[in-house]
Amino acid sequence: MEYPKTMYISVADLERAPLPVDPPIAPGQIDFGIELHALLSLRTSGLAEVLHEHRGPGQVVADIRLRASYQAQVEVLCARCLEPVRVALDQSFDLLFRPIGVDATGDERSISPSETEIGYYEKDGLLLEDVLREQVLLSLPARTLCVESCKGLCAHCGCNRNTEACGCEALPADPRWSALRAVQGPMRSQDKL
Ligand SMILES: [Zn+2]
Ligand SMILES: [Zn+2]
Repeated sequence: MEYPKTMYISVADLERAPLPVDPPIAPGQIDFGIELHALLSLRTSGLAEVLHEHRGPGQVVADIRLRASYQAQVEVLCARCLEPVRVALDQSFDLLFRPIGVDATGDERSISPSETEIGYYEKDGLLLEDVLREQVLLSLPARTLCVESCKGLCAHCGCNRNTEACGCEALPADPRWSALRAVQGPMRSQDKL
């Protein structure tokens, strides 16, 4: 399903006035690829504005500053059993985007507050979706478990050990024993007779 890109933030628009950034975002609108299992909801609220860097006679660099917060519900996979786990994100960011290539000359300037992160925009602006995708991925926990005590998947049969009791645990882990098990199995059942 294709969603329209809701919000292109252009320098030309910002030169006229700062732009409130709070569009409705549909979960399918941001393509996370395989990096996120699912985005369930995303709300954002903030402001985009242009900042002018005066770098020398006649050289003015137009930067886009984007300050916003967002709340998201996402699904990630449990690191042990691979079941989807719902995670709530509540974050804010303060980003400065310079025109790509403008810093290529190597004369570093520090015009921005130290807590502001620097990025770059191409052509004449940037897509809000691209910024949000990066911010969401950055704020995901490195490792999520469905529950602290998750038993994970059985290393032998692959079943989810939280919901199934496969009995594989009683068997030796070393695959070299599997041939022996095959022999022992029938003998054991005979013993019961
Ligand atoms: Zn789990
Ligand atoms: Zn098993």
